[in-house]
Amino acid sequence: MLGRFGGTLKKSSNSYLNELIPGQAAVFERLLSMKETGALGQSFIFVGGAGWGKYALSRAFARMLLCGNGTFPGFCECSSCRRVQSGQHPDFRYFGGDESKRSIAIAEIRSLLEWMGFKSFEGKAKIAVLKGSERLTQEAGNALLKLLEEPPVSSYLILLAENPKRLLETIRSRCSFIRLRPPSLAEAGKQLENGGISRERALYLARKSGGNFAVAMELSEANDEKEIREFLRKVSLGSAQPLIALWQKLERAEIVKNIRNTQQIFRDALVLAVGGSEDQVLFQESRNELSSLGREGIPRLLRKLGYLLEADRALRSNANQKLVLTRLEMMWDQ
Ligand SMILES: [Zn+2]
Repeated sequence: MLGRFGGTLKKSSNSYLNELIPGQAAVFERLLSMKETGALGQSFIFVGGAGWGKYALSRAFARMLLCGNGTFPGFCECSSCRRVQSGQHPDFRYFGGDESKRSIAIAEIRSLLEWMGFKSFEGKAKIAVLKGSERLTQEAGNALLKLLEEPPVSSYLILLAENPKRLLETIRSRCSFIRLRPPSLAEAGKQLENGGISRERALYLARKSGGNFAVAMELSEANDEKEIREFLRKVSLGSAQPLIALWQKLERAEIVKNIRNTQQIFRDALVLAVGGSEDQVLFQESRNELSSLGREGIPRLLRKLGYLLEADRALRSNANQKLVLTRLEMMWDQ
């Protein structure tokens, strides 16, 4: 069913869409035009970093198929749109369990297959979204294959992934790749605002997180400057041992958050060390501590930043966290 706007929307013309999925309106319009030309497949991989809007885009996808007024992607508050948006629509469901778990249990995939096996409740379409799909085990991935090979009529499967290379080739080859684009700072700020945070605060957090919405949300709960100063004091001691001993006790998501904070600190220290302006520094109130960190010298700062990025990547790819941190500690003190 065509939206009231018909045809392909110009991305700037639909402020409702820009509001709903900041930064991804153009990506959505690609999906919409696939639908309008009858070229919409039934299996997708939405690829994008944490906080880029993969969830928001999958809700928009569901509304495109389920909207009861045919109004969406124009402004719509029909019962279907409202229920998709609030996660209450019986034909739209997320699977994949707790995303901090290392793998998706086979039972979770069985319940997805079972759910997909029922006819749609309201007769239009069924949309299942699998969170963090790179956590699929081989067994769970294979169980999913049958669905990809013979999807029931009007059923759609969306796999969300940050790193689709980790998916089985047999899965990847049966899905259309939809690549989200990194949101700009302003768009990430917009996402934060949608979450009920003031504009000023949102922009600060967006800047702080390098445009990463999820990280910004986490940081918004941190007690900022005081915490950062304490952090800097520990990092400035030279040896990473006390800090890493502390991290070893944390959950994976917490460790990643700490590592990203530390990356930002090193970026700031580098900016000051190369004579950059203070405007470019995020933790401006801690510039004394940052300057003293900068005395380690640019090569060392760069090297440590590299180790942090590597540890961040390894943790996000589900590497063993104890090993990652032990390696970080060894490299750090060299
Ligand atoms: Zn609607």
